[in-house]
Amino acid sequence: MITVSGMPKAFSGEDKDSLYAGAIGMTHQELVEHEKELYQDVTFLPDTRQAQGHQCDICSNREFCAAHYRLVVRLCYRGTQSMQTRYIVTKPGMFEKSMEYHFGQMVYDLMREATGLTPPWGILTGVRPVKLVRRCLDMGMNEQQAADYLEKRYVSPHKIQLALDTARKERRMLQKVEPMSYSLYVSIPFCPSRCSYCSFVSHSIEKAGKLVEPYLQLLCAELEETAKVADSLGLRLSTIYIGGGTPTTLTAQQLRQLTDTISRCYPVEKALEYTIEAGRPDTIDEEKLKVIGEAGATRISINPQTLNDQVLKNIGRKHTAQDILDCITLARKLGFSNINCDLIAGLNGETPQSFRETVDRLTAVAPENITVHTLSVKRAARLRQEGEYLEAVHNPAAEMIEYAQQKLGEEGYIPYYLYRQRDTLGNLENTGYCKPGREGYYNVFIMEEVQTILAVGAGATTKLRHPHGEEIERIFNFKYPYEYINRFEQILERKKQVVKFYERVL
Ligand code: SF4
Repeated sequence: MITVSGMPKAFSGEDKDSLYAGAIGMTHQELVEHEKELYQDVTFLPDTRQAQGHQCDICSNREFCAAHYRLVVRLCYRGTQSMQTRYIVTKPGMFEKSMEYHFGQMVYDLMREATGLTPPWGILTGVRPVKLVRRCLDMGMNEQQAADYLEKRYVSPHKIQLALDTARKERRMLQKVEPMSYSLYVSIPFCPSRCSYCSFVSHSIEKAGKLVEPYLQLLCAELEETAKVADSLGLRLSTIYIGGGTPTTLTAQQLRQLTDTISRCYPVEKALEYTIEAGRPDTIDEEKLKVIGEAGATRISINPQTLNDQVLKNIGRKHTAQDILDCITLARKLGFSNINCDLIAGLNGETPQSFRETVDRLTAVAPENITVHTLSVKRAARLRQEGEYLEAVHNPAAEMIEYAQQKLGEEGYIPYYLYRQRDTLGNLENTGYCKPGREGYYNVFIMEEVQTILAVGAGATTKLRHPHGEEIERIFNFKYPYEYINRFEQILERKKQVVKFYERVL
């Protein structure tokens, strides 16, 4: 018999935390400290009834019955107990999978009744639901069968449709991946200031300004070394992505030094895609955009997150919504024809109405890509540490995400990549939408782990993917810029692991 008390994973994230904190009378901080104990509340007990002479409930066998199981889930929530029992028949070798499936369904049912919450991704807890759908289709299921598979796992009809649409698009995109291809990721871990919800290892330029110049020199050296390694192995460049942080925190001159190094060392003109995150409008000007254009970048990201001035202020941004729209206009004037804009649903102070206005204003200027994120408040975020967090918990992000899905569909955008994160409001997802033919390949390649990513810079992780198999090996660069600068010799030393990996698997 299995007895459960505590919270299951499907209800994790802010809903779980706030409900549980309220239920047991803890402050949020106390809850964080006791979270580990929460999961220790799950107890597995053997069913001793047969040993006591009871017959098997299914086949009436009085001896130990190895084919049939009685699964009991007992939930204690806010002092009220509830329970479900199922009789399960498993095939040889399927015990664990079968138990996990039934256990998930039963806990979900009990929690739904107890809390009134219905997480739209059902009992799925992984970060890549679309990968699951693709796997179903690759195994020969048709779309209806894949939908049935998700429905049995309590995924809502809306999310099933989203997952199928995305999987269809992704499958076509993944055909562009060749076994010996790779993408290059370049990390610029600096930002003008830190946003309240951010957990990324980015340093505000005010505090870390003097690190930028030495960082850039070493970054260029790492880029040169990485190109030599890629060439020696016969790897072919697929996409380039300069992200962060905010790459346009660099001055125009520094940006040029970076992009010149890339152009000198890598066959930029052969790349399928070259993205530079321009990020925040308070870092973008005409000179920098010209440098980006001249470097041959095919795609830029200008990220509003919201077009509500008060919300921008709440998250610590020092620019207005109009500044963002002006930036998009400037980029258009300079000839950029593939612009991505990131939005975040559920920011502090955002309402469904203000988010709808953001989506409407943004679609009116028609960027080719719109990526809709759900707020995820990780441990390191200032927001979580300062306790504004509980206010964010009650934010109706699901309504915002649904509106975005509907409006973007009406405006001719299609979903092309999707992933989930831990600690996301309502256990929701992040979805990349694009106008037909304008999808961001790097996003899909990295999310689906189908290709080697050679990553340079602080906080970057190289992922080596077996050209003909599923194996993945990771090489981590130092997280913080000062470590990266002080221990750069070790960064170069680690490049040898790339060579060793390919020598071993080829
Ligand atoms: S701009 Fe992005 S990376 Fe920089 S602090 Fe804000 S959210 Fe974090």
